[in-house]
Order: sequence, then structure tokens, then C-alpha cells
Amino acid sequence: MAKIINVVKGTKDILPADAPMWQRLEKNALEVFSKYGYKEIRTPIFEVTELFARGVGDTTDIVNKEMYTFEKSDRSLTLRPENTAGVVRSFIENGMTRLSPPVKLWYKGPMFRYERPQAGRQRQFHQVGVEMFGVKEPAADAEVILLAVNYLKSLGLNDLEVEINSLGCPECREAYKNKIKEVLKPEFDNLCDDCKNRYEKNPLRLLDCKVESCKAIFEKPEIKAVIQSDFICEACAEHYSKLKTYLDELKIKYIENKLLVRGLDYYNRTVFEIKSNNLGSQNAVCGGGRYDSLVRNLGGDDTPAVGWAMGMERLISLIPPVEAKKLDGYIVSNSPVEAFKLAEELRNEGFEVEFDLQNKKFTKQLEKASKVADYALILGEDEIKTNTVSVKNLATSTQKSVARVNIGSEIKNV
Ligand code: ATP
Ligand code: MG
Repeated sequence: MAKIINVVKGTKDILPADAPMWQRLEKNALEVFSKYGYKEIRTPIFEVTELFARGVGDTTDIVNKEMYTFEKSDRSLTLRPENTAGVVRSFIENGMTRLSPPVKLWYKGPMFRYERPQAGRQRQFHQVGVEMFGVKEPAADAEVILLAVNYLKSLGLNDLEVEINSLGCPECREAYKNKIKEVLKPEFDNLCDDCKNRYEKNPLRLLDCKVESCKAIFEKPEIKAVIQSDFICEACAEHYSKLKTYLDELKIKYIENKLLVRGLDYYNRTVFEIKSNNLGSQNAVCGGGRYDSLVRNLGGDDTPAVGWAMGMERLISLIPPVEAKKLDGYIVSNSPVEAFKLAEELRNEGFEVEFDLQNKKFTKQLEKASKVADYALILGEDEIKTNTVSVKNLATSTQKSVARVNIGSEIKNV
């Protein structure tokens, strides 16, 4: 026998038994996001590598370690590790900067990151996300957070924790970065290698480090005092405080977390995450924030923006299983031609119907019907002669003879 080939490490099949859960996530996304005026956008799964280097940031783990990059015709291409950069590219390229704001977009689809696979972490995974362009006011930040919470609610997830923080603007953040570097300087040798590397280029990212020995350093009183200090300028503080007022008024519970800095370089002012206590160590289902300089950095007109992305595998692991629906009817007949015709009639009327393509024994077909369908539609010689169908409700075992012309309207009454 030929050797079998397995799925690639860090990737997974979504099998038919799981498909109904994915369909629920996608259906609810369309329904909930549409209520807020968001339109779906589908961008390619690969882009030129430079888009991510410039868009996600070349001090990030994603760009430095995690990208699937390949060459074709002398171009460096990369499988998208996230979709904000692609959406921004499309937004600029298709002239959406000229549309009257806000421009509200949503997407879903696979992302690719070369990470260590573990529970809740894959190399091909899926995200659903939203981006809103053109509004700098904190009402936009509040809307996208509300949208995330309401999407989660639509999936029955009510008890998740929303964490928020403000990273300020590039100006006020500069002083904060310097203070953090200064207070961490005596501890430099005790930091993990990742933190040592980020110390110069991206000191805020240190605060997000998951290594226990680093976390302990940030807990030292003199260091913690600097981390927790209020550094944001007046305009950023006002933006942040208005956001909190909106969230309070809209009854969205949140926790302020000064250590929340997010993994991507492009954020300013608002950042947020939504976490679940039921996910173990990979506990974030949603991450997002404001990225007012990204459109300009990628060559577009200055356009403020805010958005988020959710990990769909992590959502799936939180929602209760969705049962696959049974067929409406299974035709039991030893006249395949007649069965074919009846099946087509019913399919045209919107019913989900199958019959036995192998024309097995009547009793076998009845057994199959009781497993896969709500109704057995018996089409024996007598029924064919009299132009009827014997409809058997497989839950109640009630059986009734129905005229063939009336079958579509009668079936559910048996
Ligand atoms: P994490 O801290 O869990 O690595 P992140 O900050 O890298 O998350 P984002 O890039 O903001 O995540 O992506 C948003 C969401 O996508 C995350 O909150 C998570 O639910 C999901 N996600 C990110 N990376 C993966 C992965 N490798 N496998 C599965 N889901 C992922
Ligand atoms: Mg990550």
C-alpha cells in the first residue's frame, strides 16, 4: 500500500462534524456586523512581503520569526499573518480614502504564523475582524468594542473580560519609553533574550512578555511605579476618558491594564483585548486597537482607523457544540428512477432529501432513513401505482399516505 500523507504540523482539517459551528460563527458575523453598517471585504491570502514588514512592523515577532515567506518570479511574497495590513492596502489602492467616513469593513479567513503549535495556537488559524476608517473620535473605539462584545454575546459568550489601555500618541509615548528603559537598565542582564532584543527598538513590548522572570521584574515596586504612571498627554487622556464614559454608559464592563501593549507596532491610543478564563494560557479571543498612522505609513492619505481581530478556533473551543441538522426526508424505494424524480421535486421545493443510489434492500433503506432523516418517504410499487407517498415521521412513528402532488405541503404535518 502507498504511504499515507498527513496534514502539516500546526494545521487542521475542519471536518463535516465541526462545520456547523464554523457556519454559526460566520452567519452571526454577517448578521451582527451588518446591523452596524459593516461591509465584508475579501483580500488575497498572500501579499508582497514588504506590506507586512511596513504594515505590521519589523520589530514584531510576527515579522521577525513567524512569516511564511517565499519567492516567485523574483518577488518576495508572504502568506498573510494577519489581515489589517491587507485591508489597509486594499482601502488605499481602491480609493476608499476618498469615500465619506466612516468606511466600515469586516473580514474572515485563514492567517498563517510559524509559531509553536499548542492548544489554541496553530500555524494556519482563522480570524474574523473589523476595521473602521476615517473617525478619530473615541465613539469609533467604543463602537468597535461594543461590536466585539455583541458578537460574542450572539454566540452565547457573556462572561468574557474586556481589558483596555491607552498607549498615547507617538509624542507622549516617547518620554514613557525612555522612562521604562531607564528604570529597567539595572535589570538588563536579567531580562529574557527577546526582551533584551526589544529593549532598544520597542521597549513597550517588554511589558507584554510572558516569561515569569521578566514578569517578576516588572512587579518590583520602583519599576511598577514607572509602568503604572500616567504618561499620556492631555489630548490622549481626554480621548481615553471619553472612551471610558461611552463604555460605562453602554454598560460594558472593562478592566484597565497598563501592561496591555499588544504585539503589533501600529497601535496608538486605545488598545484592548478580550479574554476568557476558560482557555488556559492562550486566553485572548480578541485583540485590537487604534492605528491612526498605518494608512499614511502605507502610502495613503492620513486616515485614522480602529479595529480588532478574533481567533475563530478559540471561539469554537468556547461555544457549545452545534449538532448537524438531519435531512428532511430519506426516500425508501426500489425504483431508483421514481426516487430520483421525487427527490428532485422536493429539492426544488427547498427540502433536503436523499435516496439510496445503490438501490439496497428495502429494510436496509428504512434503517438508514431512521438514522439520517426526520421522515422516511416510502415509494413502493403500490405507492407508485396510486401516485402517493407513505410518509413516516421517524420521531413519532406515525405514518400517513399522502397524494404525490401534495407531498411538499403535507410532509411536515405527519
Ligand atoms: P497571542 O498573544 O495569543 O499570540 P496575538 O496578540 O498574537 O495573540 P493578534 O495578532 O491580535 O493576536 O490576533 C487576534 C487573535 O487571533 C488573538 O486574540 C487570538 O485569539 C488569535 N490568534 C493569534 N494567533 C493565533 C494562533 N497562532 N493560533 C490561533 N489563534 C491565534
Ligand atoms: Mg501572537
